[in-house]
Amino acid sequence: MTDDKEARAGKAQSAPSASPADGAAVADEPKKPWFKRLSLTTWIFIALALGVAAGLALQGTPEIADTYIKPLGTIFLNLIKMIVVPLVLFSIIAGVVSLEDVKKVGAIGGKTIVFYLTTTAFAVTLGLIFANVMNVGAGYILPAEDLVYEAKEAPSFIDTIVNIFPSNFVQPMADATMLQVIVIALVFGFGIIAAGKKAAIVVEFTNAMSDVCIKVMHGIIMIAPFGVFGLITPVIANNGPEVLAPLLWLVVVAYVAMICQIALVYSGIVKLFARMSPLKFLKNQAPAMGFAFASASSVGVLPLNLECAKKMGASDEVASFVLPLGATINMDGTAIYQGVCAIFIAQVFGIDLTIGQQFTIVLTAVLASIGTAGVPGSGMIMLAMVLQSVGLPVEGVALVAGVDRILDMMRTVVNITGDAAVVQSVDAIQKRSYARKEQKLAA
Ligand code: ASP
Repeated sequence: MTDDKEARAGKAQSAPSASPADGAAVADEPKKPWFKRLSLTTWIFIALALGVAAGLALQGTPEIADTYIKPLGTIFLNLIKMIVVPLVLFSIIAGVVSLEDVKKVGAIGGKTIVFYLTTTAFAVTLGLIFANVMNVGAGYILPAEDLVYEAKEAPSFIDTIVNIFPSNFVQPMADATMLQVIVIALVFGFGIIAAGKKAAIVVEFTNAMSDVCIKVMHGIIMIAPFGVFGLITPVIANNGPEVLAPLLWLVVVAYVAMICQIALVYSGIVKLFARMSPLKFLKNQAPAMGFAFASASSVGVLPLNLECAKKMGASDEVASFVLPLGATINMDGTAIYQGVCAIFIAQVFGIDLTIGQQFTIVLTAVLASIGTAGVPGSGMIMLAMVLQSVGLPVEGVALVAGVDRILDMMRTVVNITGDAAVVQSVDAIQKRSYARKEQKLAA
C-alpha cells in the first residue's frame, strides 16, 4: 500500500462514527443541549412535518410560500447542484488513481457496470410487473383541465451513446452533464496512472480536492432541514393534500415494488456474492437509508454511504471508486418509478401497451436512470423521455408531479442501497480473486 493510500485508509478508520449526517448523539456527553442531540436525519423529518403543516396553513395564500419559503429550497438545491460536478469529478479520479493499475480499474469497473446494469434492468422490470398486476391506474379519474408539461426530445440510442463522449473539457462541467463528467474523470484517471511518478503532484491534489468536496457536501447537508422545509411547504400550499388521495395507489404500488427490490434483489446479491447476511447489511446501511429518505439526494448521501460501506468491511479502493460512480449512474429506485409511472399514465389515458412497448420502457428507463442526476426531483424530468419513447402523452408527468416528492424519497433510498449492495459484492469478489492469486503464487 502506498503512503497515500495508507493515509486514506487510516483516515477512513479514524473517521468519527457519528458523522454530521447521522449526527447520532454520543451517550456520554450529557451537557449537549437537546437540539444538538437529535440527529440530522431526525431534524430533516421534523422539517418535513413542519413544512407540511406550514403548507396547509398557507393554502389560502400560496404566494407567501412561493415568495418567502421556496427560496430556502432553491438555495439548498442550488448548493447541491454546485457541488455535484466537482464531487463526482474528483472522487472518481481519486478512486481510479487509488487502484493504481488500468487493468484493475477495468476489472473492478467491468464488474461494477455489469452489476449496475443488471440490477437496474431488474428494477424496471419489477416496476412494470407490479404496475400491471396491481393495476396501478385503476380508479384514477383524469382531471378535466388541460395538462401542460414541457418535454425534451428523446435522443436515439446511438445518439445517447455518442453524447456520452464530450468534445470539450469545460462544457460538460458547466452544464452538469454527468455522464460526460464521468468520462472526463475516467480518462484523466487513466492518464494520471499512465504518467506514473510525474503525476504525483496531481494525485495529491485530486485526493485533497476529493476530501475537500466531501467536507463541502457535509456542510451543505447540515442545512438540509431548511432546504427540505423550503421545498415541501410551497408544494403543499399550492396543491393541498387533495393531490395525494387520487394518487395514493400509485404511491403504494411504487413503494411495494421498491421494497421488493431491496428485499429480493439487494438481499439476494449481498448473500450470494458478498456472503453477508442481508439483515446485517440492512442494519449497517440504515443510517444512509434514513438520510436518503429525508434528503432525496443520492449525491448528498454519498459521504455517509462511503462510511457505511467501509464500516461493513469494503476496501477503500473499491468503495471510493464504485460509490461515486453509483451515486451518478445507478438509479434503480428511479427506474422502478419510471416503469410504474409509465404504466400508470398509459392506463389513465386508456392506452394499451404491447409487450414490445414495455420492453422499450425497460431499455429507455435504464438509460434515463443512468442520465438522472442524484439530486431531488431529477427522476421526474427524465420520465418525460421514457414516456416519449413509447409515444405516451408527456403531459402525464404533470399528473404525478404532485406526489413526486413522496416517491423521490423512497426511490433515493433504493438508489443508494443498490450502490451499497454492489460495493459489498464487487469488493468480496475482488478479495476472493486476490486471495486465489496469492494462493497460486505461494504454490
Ligand atoms: N432524487 C433521486 C436521487 O438523488 C433522483 C431522482 O429524482 O430520481 O437519487
